[in-house]
Amino acid sequence: MSREQVAVERARKAFQTGRSKDLGYRIQQLKNLKRFLTERLKDITAALQKDLYKSQHGTELYEILGLEGEINVAVSRLAEWAAPRPVEKNLLTISDEVYIRPEPLGVVLIIGAWNYPWAVTLQPLIGAVAAGNAAVIKPSEVCGHTAKVMELISDYMDKEMYPVVTGGVPETQELLRQRFDHIFYTGNSTVGKLVMEAASRHLTPVTLELGGKSPCYIDKDCNLSIACRRITWGKFVNCGQTCIAPDYILCDPSIQDRVIDEIRKCIEEFYTDDPKTFQDYGRIINQRHFKRIMALAEGSTVAIGGENDESQCYIAPTVLKDVSPESKVMQEEIFGPVLPIVPVGGLDEAIRFINEREKPLALYVFTSNQKVIKQMISQTSSGALLANDCLVHYTISDLPFGGVGNSGMGRYHGKYSFDQLSHLRSCLIKKLNMEAVNQMRYPPHTTEKLRW
Ligand code: NAD
Repeated sequence: MSREQVAVERARKAFQTGRSKDLGYRIQQLKNLKRFLTERLKDITAALQKDLYKSQHGTELYEILGLEGEINVAVSRLAEWAAPRPVEKNLLTISDEVYIRPEPLGVVLIIGAWNYPWAVTLQPLIGAVAAGNAAVIKPSEVCGHTAKVMELISDYMDKEMYPVVTGGVPETQELLRQRFDHIFYTGNSTVGKLVMEAASRHLTPVTLELGGKSPCYIDKDCNLSIACRRITWGKFVNCGQTCIAPDYILCDPSIQDRVIDEIRKCIEEFYTDDPKTFQDYGRIINQRHFKRIMALAEGSTVAIGGENDESQCYIAPTVLKDVSPESKVMQEEIFGPVLPIVPVGGLDEAIRFINEREKPLALYVFTSNQKVIKQMISQTSSGALLANDCLVHYTISDLPFGGVGNSGMGRYHGKYSFDQLSHLRSCLIKKLNMEAVNQMRYPPHTTEKLRW
């Protein structure tokens, strides 16, 4: 038996003991996970510094705080989420007990990505634990140091119920051959399709948290200085390797140069005039991605940045101007610190541009005009829409986080994670009395019975 098979079988046996059905057990496991994050913070930050050149503050702010917040929400609201949910009844069932009972699904496979390796791997785990499932945790091999530290979770949580299985593509594929009750995958759409294909062999439901090109429309009627400050932050944090980073800007040609000037000022303010030596500016994860991003930028006009150093996987915060929709950089998700500006003649053209492409994970609109916001909301589709800010929807536990179409399926965070990883079982409890009420449904079907 392979290591992966052993882990899955053990998790299933642990689940079958029934101990994860107890809410007290789930809360204890969530608290243990929180204690792991606190006690191992130094190891976590050191690993991320090596993997992604993330600063300690960056790790705490963008990875750990959110997880602790989600654990707190789950611990404090679990009793309410897990309680039976009564529903409205009809005439036929008026004296019955009718409710929805959330139940664990069984063994969940969580496959994480590398860009925020803690957030995207442990956030689904919080939902899986809260919902009473066992979970096999597969961190991304691309963040090797981080994956090693993640294995230490077994010192804190029930290691039979929540095993961490490390490894690369062959190990993930071996896991995907096993039978799970749900697969929660975060990563690119190409592998997302492979995951769904593998899941279909066992009729296993999937949640796919994918990526894509998230557009950012800047209206002429807008405070450009504030808009560009928020966009610069959203784009260049984690060196552009954020699934909901604004991928490209759409704006009227008449404001393009002012947008560039404002972004230049913000880059200098946030990362100094030498981001390469600045602690809060990251690196591209590896040379493969470095080469991919550099190749995407080829052939477009550089307005800001462009400096790079392959030996350090460094790419300066870069803005491209007058970018054509046919250029290479507009054909796939950039997932790096390169921000193309595609000039469009106003809102209607921007909406057409967005609707001609795959549905994005996030859609950003910057404007002082409420009508523009309303039109953007009503005439487009995306996982999320934000007006006048970037990324922050991720931090709200009560908002479902997920894509639509090519950007993914399913949703999570807060109660949405709990529901996503639960079976919502319909229950109807009838008494054996009051049989007269049921007469009309029994044959023979007569006119009198119908009138009754
Ligand atoms: P990755 O390379 O770490 O791959 C993700 C996981 O898939 C890894 O655990 C890896 O082992 C596994 N994997 C890779 N190739 C495989 C194969 N051939 N067969 C089976 N498993 C395989 O991460 P990535 O895909 O480079 O991540 C970046 C992408 O993820 C971007 O598109 C980004 O937008 C998206 N993303 C989405 C979210 C979200 O919440 N929607 C969050 C983060 C990243």
